[in-house]
Amino acid sequence: MNGLYRPIASLPGVGASRAAKYEKLGVHTPYELLYHFPKSYIDYTKPIMIADAEAGVPVAVRCSVVKKLTASFVRKGFAIYRVLVSDGISELILVFYNSPYVYQSMKPGEEYFVYGKITGGFMRREMNTPQVQKVDQALLLQPVYPQTTGLTSVMIRSNVRTALSYLEGEDMETLPESIREPYGLIKLKEALYAVHRPADLAELHAGQYRLSFEELLQFQLGTMMMKQRAGSSTGFTMDSSVDLSDFYSALPFSLTQAQQHAIDVICKDLCGRKPMNRLLQGDVGSGKTVIAAAAAAFAAKNGYQTVLMAPTEILAQQHQHTMEAFLQPLGIVPVLLTGSTKAKEKRLLKQQIEDGTAQVIVGTHAVIQKDIQFHKLGMVITDEQHRFGVSQRAALAEKGGSPHKLVMSATPIPRTLALIIYGDLDITILDEMPKGRLPIQTFAVTGGYRERAYGFIREHLDAGEQAYLVCAMIEESDTLENVQAAETYAESIRKGAFADYRIGLLHGKMKSQEKEAVMQAMKQHEIDLLVCTTVVEVGVDVPNATMILIENADRFGLAQLHQLRGRVGRGQTQSYCILVTDSRREDARERLKIMSRTVNGFAIAEEDLKMRGPGDFFGSAQHGMPTLMQTALCSNMPLVSETQMAAKQILEADPEMKSSALQPLRTAILQLFAKSGENSLN
Ligand code: ADP
Ligand code: MG
Repeated sequence: MNGLYRPIASLPGVGASRAAKYEKLGVHTPYELLYHFPKSYIDYTKPIMIADAEAGVPVAVRCSVVKKLTASFVRKGFAIYRVLVSDGISELILVFYNSPYVYQSMKPGEEYFVYGKITGGFMRREMNTPQVQKVDQALLLQPVYPQTTGLTSVMIRSNVRTALSYLEGEDMETLPESIREPYGLIKLKEALYAVHRPADLAELHAGQYRLSFEELLQFQLGTMMMKQRAGSSTGFTMDSSVDLSDFYSALPFSLTQAQQHAIDVICKDLCGRKPMNRLLQGDVGSGKTVIAAAAAAFAAKNGYQTVLMAPTEILAQQHQHTMEAFLQPLGIVPVLLTGSTKAKEKRLLKQQIEDGTAQVIVGTHAVIQKDIQFHKLGMVITDEQHRFGVSQRAALAEKGGSPHKLVMSATPIPRTLALIIYGDLDITILDEMPKGRLPIQTFAVTGGYRERAYGFIREHLDAGEQAYLVCAMIEESDTLENVQAAETYAESIRKGAFADYRIGLLHGKMKSQEKEAVMQAMKQHEIDLLVCTTVVEVGVDVPNATMILIENADRFGLAQLHQLRGRVGRGQTQSYCILVTDSRREDARERLKIMSRTVNGFAIAEEDLKMRGPGDFFGSAQHGMPTLMQTALCSNMPLVSETQMAAKQILEADPEMKSSALQPLRTAILQLFAKSGENSLN
């Protein structure tokens, strides 16, 4: 077998330690390395004269070596190597710290491209640790890769080069001529060469276009096939004369117009002959849960069961409480089923689900596992959909009998993406907040302001309000790193700034019952201050909490910060969000400023898409998505419509993609939508 699919450690030049670093980047084989796309390119096509270089801005210069200066050994283990170069008019000194390799390879009289920032005055210009290429072997567009600690772009570049050599003699084309030709797409192999070692801009763009086209095409074919499977008629047409007035009169508040409208539209869908396929988009705090409850009540009154799925246990538990509050007065029974439900209780619940006693089933995606039999499942609602991977969605689409589907998205998704991710779902937008909400005030501060921020929080705690302190090192909520960070943080404020307050701790590694107990304590105001990781990100609802302070705010995406911020401002009291960062990076500060400027989730999602790419919206499991799709989606709308057209053409001619020419593509789609080895699209 070709080395392309062997472990990455088998690639010459990659040892065990480097292999481990690649794994961290999600690269396990040389093949996956080829899908680790450059995030940008250094452009050597228009080198500039040394004298024209602006100080502190990276520039490319074409020069020849005048003289190699003797290395100076500053102290033990620290050496500086210098090379004097000239562009024919001005001179420049290249400086390499502690790394003799490039220095040794450079030869007097030979021509090089160098890239870096020029510092110093006109008497003595220097370029520190420049990138260097020999002119006759240079890549004029040199790829820059997303890197991780200890794995530089230079290393990746050289490994990619070896991996590319494995492509020879390999037949790996996924798109048949019949698609490539009309859409002007180059072959896969050529495209991979083109993005990693482009000869010129035209070639690079052709490669990028082909690869992003295919990714989008796969995605769209996958969702369209899912939709086909979902069927075009439903056996679950409900009765429109069923009345919800008892539901409305039991509510503790009156609905906003937008909420009422959404409920009406949904009930109408439920009474139609086609299965509902609706996306309900509403910013954090716009009140989506009550809509789910209304829909579930409507279904229950019609004799149908509803599944309400949440992405986390905490959220599932909270939904269970909410459903109980809204539905029990009507005599409708909601049950909770999650991954951590005990075996004995689970057996009982399964029984109730099977015989129809349980009318609303709230849970994490454990509930969609195959071994659960429903009595009469009429509707599936998924909350905070963007957190579900494609695979869960595929599994859902498969659940028999074409139930109605409602998808509730907390992160407003930019239109471009909604089109792709949700294919042709019908979309309802909740564009109105419940009455009396004050916009959350957001401040970005440095660590130096922490004590003052604490003081501010104490004042509000004294007034009977509550707060979250989010302390995480990285985004994922349940890594050991984060758990420890949160524990240490809680410990230090317990002894220090908040010694007189009731402090709770919540993180992803806690047992489900513990989490539940903490959240209940928070809801009942037995805790003043909850120190937590990003587990509180999704959906948690404690209206009396008015302050959230987020440490290391620069490490999170804007959409995620917006979600976290959405934990406050859920009641009538003025709420505050304090973002703490010590990052000096300009872009990090810029992002946090956007947070202070706007509370509109849609605007924030657009910004996030521009800055971080669509990875956050698609879920994590997808290779290669970020960089290519980013360029494609942000700048290139025609790509979306072109791929949509191609996908439709393919499925019209061959709805199941059975023809042999389509097999490689079909396999790729199945892999993309695969769930731990089992295919939901099979
Ligand atoms: P999200 O859209 O973020 O899921 P929730 O459904 O959790 O929002 O609702 C946020 C809070 O607003 C909850 O405490 C809920 O009870 C309350 N709420 C929802 N609708 C209204 C309304 N029409 N008037 C007042 N409060 C409301
Ligand atoms: Mg919610």
